[in-house]
Amino acid sequence: MSLVKSSNDKGLKRRKFLVGAGVAAGAGALARQLPLNVIEPVQAADAAAEPVKTELKRTVCSHCSVGCSVNAIVSNGVWTRQEAAFESPINMGAHCAKGASVREHGFGEHRLRYPMKLVNGKYTRISWDQAINEIGDKLLQLRQQSGPDSLMIIGSSKHNNEQAYLLRKFSSMWGSNNCDHQARICHSTTVAGVAQTFGYGAMTNSFNDLHYSKAVMFIGSNPAEAHPISMLHFLHAKELGAKMIVVDPRFTRTARFAHHYVRVRPGTDIPLVWGILWHIFNNGWEDKEYIAARTYGMDDVRKEVAKWTPDKVSDITGVPEASVRMAAEMLAKNRPSSVVWCMGITQHHVGTANVRALSILQLALGNIGVPGGGANIYRGHDNVQGATDVGPNGDSLPGYYGLAEGAWKHFSNVWGVDYNWILSRFGSKELMEKPGITVSRWFDAVNEQNQFVDQPANLKAVFYWGHAPNSQTRLPDMKAAMQKLDMLVVIDPYPSMTAAMHGRTDGVYLLPAASQFETQGSCTSSNRSIQWRERVIAPLFECKTDHEIMYLFARKLGFHNELCKNIKVVQNEPVIEDILREINRSCWTIGYTGCSPERLKLHMENKHTFNPTTMLAESGPCKGDYYGLPWPCWGTPEMKHPGTPILYDINKPVAKGGLPFRANWGVEHNGQTLLAADGSTNRDSELDTGYPEFDHVFLKKLGWWSELTPQEQAMAEGKNWKTDNSGGIIRVVIAHGCAPFGNARARCNVWNFPDPVPTHREPLMSPRRDLVAKYPTYDDKANFLRLPTLYKSVQEVDFSKDFPMIMTSGRLVEYEGGGEETRSNPWLAELQQNMFVEVNPKDAVQSGLKLGDYVWIETPTGARLKMMAMVTERVPVGMVWAPFHFGGWWMGEDLERHYPEDGAPTVRGEAINTGWTYGYDAVTMMQETKVSLCRLVRA
Ligand code: SF4
Repeated sequence: MSLVKSSNDKGLKRRKFLVGAGVAAGAGALARQLPLNVIEPVQAADAAAEPVKTELKRTVCSHCSVGCSVNAIVSNGVWTRQEAAFESPINMGAHCAKGASVREHGFGEHRLRYPMKLVNGKYTRISWDQAINEIGDKLLQLRQQSGPDSLMIIGSSKHNNEQAYLLRKFSSMWGSNNCDHQARICHSTTVAGVAQTFGYGAMTNSFNDLHYSKAVMFIGSNPAEAHPISMLHFLHAKELGAKMIVVDPRFTRTARFAHHYVRVRPGTDIPLVWGILWHIFNNGWEDKEYIAARTYGMDDVRKEVAKWTPDKVSDITGVPEASVRMAAEMLAKNRPSSVVWCMGITQHHVGTANVRALSILQLALGNIGVPGGGANIYRGHDNVQGATDVGPNGDSLPGYYGLAEGAWKHFSNVWGVDYNWILSRFGSKELMEKPGITVSRWFDAVNEQNQFVDQPANLKAVFYWGHAPNSQTRLPDMKAAMQKLDMLVVIDPYPSMTAAMHGRTDGVYLLPAASQFETQGSCTSSNRSIQWRERVIAPLFECKTDHEIMYLFARKLGFHNELCKNIKVVQNEPVIEDILREINRSCWTIGYTGCSPERLKLHMENKHTFNPTTMLAESGPCKGDYYGLPWPCWGTPEMKHPGTPILYDINKPVAKGGLPFRANWGVEHNGQTLLAADGSTNRDSELDTGYPEFDHVFLKKLGWWSELTPQEQAMAEGKNWKTDNSGGIIRVVIAHGCAPFGNARARCNVWNFPDPVPTHREPLMSPRRDLVAKYPTYDDKANFLRLPTLYKSVQEVDFSKDFPMIMTSGRLVEYEGGGEETRSNPWLAELQQNMFVEVNPKDAVQSGLKLGDYVWIETPTGARLKMMAMVTERVPVGMVWAPFHFGGWWMGEDLERHYPEDGAPTVRGEAINTGWTYGYDAVTMMQETKVSLCRLVRA
């Protein structure tokens, strides 16, 4: 949708878009359109005698997490054309607008071209040497004065797995857990909620597996815009008769396909899910056998659900009673049924509880571990899943190993460095084992009085490495923090809004990073498939790959030898394959160990051999593997585990991709067993009952120890399946048909969470003041992830009188994340030229607005945001919706002049997060972006 068509010369017509995207023209025609800055470097090959060298490079779209393949045609080093990869079992030749225009990365006229430094308010070109030296000197000085925790590294979900892993290692060797990335603010609540229920924090099935679904409920998810190619898989199921339910406060583009649309009041997902479950329990539609054999604590849920009678659910959620019952009936009577969710569920102060309610619903229906069922959670960026699995997370080492001494010893062993050396890099052992500051709150760790920050000094320097600031809430507080910092460093292919919004005159550096098309490496789709990207082109301009930049900083800071002890370095670039091999040698917990570079490359070359429904290779060199070796891919690469396409599926042997629930919480709680019932085990399992996770003691008890080789025995002695670096324990256990992590029950009661059974709590900014007293939020916390965190004291203030409209946000098909990259892409910029807010026609009349008028959105933080009004019945009366991809304006002012020259994106607009209010999930510090309050004022 575009409210106003641009008439400036940057506007591009559809025909030009097709040509530019390589859909309608050959390489020769395209070469004539290349901007001069791209043509120039290949002049040497222009000599008449030189034949044009054309190559096909296999890569993966770098936008959302579906993982669509792209075939890139490269002529003499210039990316001349892109083609849809028909042979990919994921996208089968389809691309959305974003995927169809990724070749723009090979042009990049808005890209950062060389390192820059802010001098007297102007960005000035400097050399890489100067940049690394100056920044490095400042870091060493800060380390001396304030300790290593004075630095925060905000990494990226667009790093490939190897870069994400290396950045976590970099932060560890620098001596701080203050590192994080986008997953904190998109799916940290999913990871926490799902992992604590089932065992692993990931989507259970694949996009393709929806082909088997008989019903799908999309809740807080809009795949028609956010994950368009995933929608094709569902539409295939719909053609085969699958029922479609869409739960969303806004009538989205996905909702228009639904058999049953449920318009829910924002922030009331738990009452709705309990309302659905009320009908399921009352009608006996639950899967009793499954519940008895494979779950723990469902009776506690029954007690809570019994309170949620249809009238009460309807009052709180705004959904008519019959509508709730219809959703329950459609899910229960059309099994297997699947549930798909995204940030409409996760980005709440009760996000983790929301996630758990949906996980419990699927357990009650027996839908977890079956084709066509599952808890399917679509991530945002191309490698959110991989960066979460092995990357810069402040509460964990790679592979979710945590931060306890044992975890550090495991990694110091793998890294080949002394544990005491790593310890010496930290401020203290306590700080080494304490989760770091989160990306959602880093600015509070600058602004807050030091006595309330749970580390020796406040943050003094921040690296924004491939992360958009406008994807975070409370931007005025962030801007204030940026001004207080000693140093702000932006490392990105594009100057993100960080470069323009800080309001400083010095102390800011911009370093040009290469995109994922200018390096090679692996990335993990939302469905856990790991794909290998070949390098398409050499880095443009003076851009450097992220891993080269990490190496250069490590060298300056004095730990490059430790960082790359087992990794070869060629011309300052740590070899990507060697980094993946180190991941293969360490991340046993999640089975990132069988996916060697060789196996992944083989999959990429033989995509056509995989079945697009089952993802199984039925012939060819990958025969028997699932596409992308979806993790866990157990054991060593030599073991040739095929990957696990569906988590917790006990109808397959573990050796063939089956899995029970993980035994992660002991064997009993409150006198009840946590292990699966007798007979509830994987096919071919030699243990016909539930069992705990494996270690050297258990193996000996079972008499299986002798099956380890002497070498394996030496390495496995005193170890468990997660820390045995020989892989022997895993090999032997799987040979006996068992899962290394045990065979347990899924937990419906998570006793270690603030709400062991998910409980409704009114949003912090609720217009239903009558419900606040009845369903209050949590008490304020003095220290949560190193910071005081407010709940009750925010909710106690009634903002609804002055700010009567509910505000919520979401995605557009044209843009991705904070959007600087996609809004700099002329093909996409043409499609969506203005920041806008959706307003119901009745509210528009009240405010005197009509389509295309400018309006101020004012929020309780004092923010005033100017954007166009999109008058539409997509939103109900009393609610407004805005996309979160825009940026480049600051409360009515266009920041174009504050970007470096030629660096401002083509489309700029107000960032909705500038006005977003306070609110954080009580388990993960996920920010609240789905329900707040505002008012409209005609501009
Ligand atoms: S943005 Fe997502 S759906 Fe679109 S082409 Fe890229 S990976 Fe596929």
